[in-house]
Amino acid sequence: MSESRAFCPRCGDTVPERSASDATDESAADPLRPGAEVDLCDACYFEDFDFVDAPDRIDVRVCATCGAVYRGNRWVDVGAEDYTDIAIEEVSEALSVHVDVEDVAWQVEPEQIDPNTIRMHCYFTGVVRGTPVEEQVMVPVKMARQTCTRCGRISGDYYASIVQIRAEDRTPTSEETERAKEIANQIVADMEATGDRNAFVTEVGEVDDGLNIKVSTNKIGKKISNKMVEEFGGTVTDAETLVTEDSDGNEVYRVTFAVRLPPYPPGDVIDLADDDEGPVLVRSARGNLKGVRLTTGERYEASYEEGDSPDARKLGEADDAVEATVVTVEDDNAVQVLDPESYRAKTIARPDYFDPEAETVPVLKSRAGLHVLPDETDE
Ligand SMILES: [Zn+2]
Ligand SMILES: [Zn+2]
Repeated sequence: MSESRAFCPRCGDTVPERSASDATDESAADPLRPGAEVDLCDACYFEDFDFVDAPDRIDVRVCATCGAVYRGNRWVDVGAEDYTDIAIEEVSEALSVHVDVEDVAWQVEPEQIDPNTIRMHCYFTGVVRGTPVEEQVMVPVKMARQTCTRCGRISGDYYASIVQIRAEDRTPTSEETERAKEIANQIVADMEATGDRNAFVTEVGEVDDGLNIKVSTNKIGKKISNKMVEEFGGTVTDAETLVTEDSDGNEVYRVTFAVRLPPYPPGDVIDLADDDEGPVLVRSARGNLKGVRLTTGERYEASYEEGDSPDARKLGEADDAVEATVVTVEDDNAVQVLDPESYRAKTIARPDYFDPEAETVPVLKSRAGLHVLPDETDE
């Protein structure tokens, strides 16, 4: 080790030997002050020492509707409960402490001066060069209540895209429209959760032939319509409409996504035009229509060409089924039940899902006659 002695470069006092690790820490810890007082004596060091760096005041632009705060050049959701929360958050962002200080602790006492002004009394403690240090600062936080871009758009009924939920040759079921609303809200919530402030549902409106959902971006419209088709089948087409020009003269388009749900949703009982093998209970309308024959229990699937809309007429819905008393099982293909309307015994087809032990079975009476339905409660 060197025998040379250290002197304070400012006052010339001798500086006590410090451990190698201390010296390394300090020279490495202060990159912002070139030629820093690594070797200053304590007296000179503390003369210049500034524990806390605080602004004279903090101006906060806060959205009066949603509580978002303007930072940098954009609105940010800070998840604050009230203005005091926001003030604490902003003060934490704005204050800085000297890098040499260890074991820094601080507390803050907000003092509400008027509805838009909060004085933040901050108390700091820490240790530097083995010496405890403390400091108090007061920073006034001024709140300016404004309207953020999103809230402005929502209140202005802004939308970029419409999703039209319709169905082929029928109106969408309440299950389908309720699900569409759920999907829309879920997609927006997921996007919000990733910090996307531009995602919102502007309006959900029932119309005679379905549902219209206005949303803030084309991306959301596309996601909703794709998800609907994924779950229910059918098709989606999109069309752009020129609505206006923005302030820079760019053309602004609005996209309409027209979802057409298939004509026969699951639960429909249909009679196919080109066969006489009996009614089909629709199980799925995604891709090709799929279902089960009510006469035999055999699986039915429409051809590729027919897709989700084979030539058929609707006889009823599984929900229309009523319980009928089983009189006797005649053979593998026939069963006798009491007609739920006339209470007369009737021999009808016995599908393979028929439970020979059952005392009653769900039946559907339609133009095509009486048919046993699968007992969905068993599945
Ligand atoms: Zn000195
Ligand atoms: Zn807002």
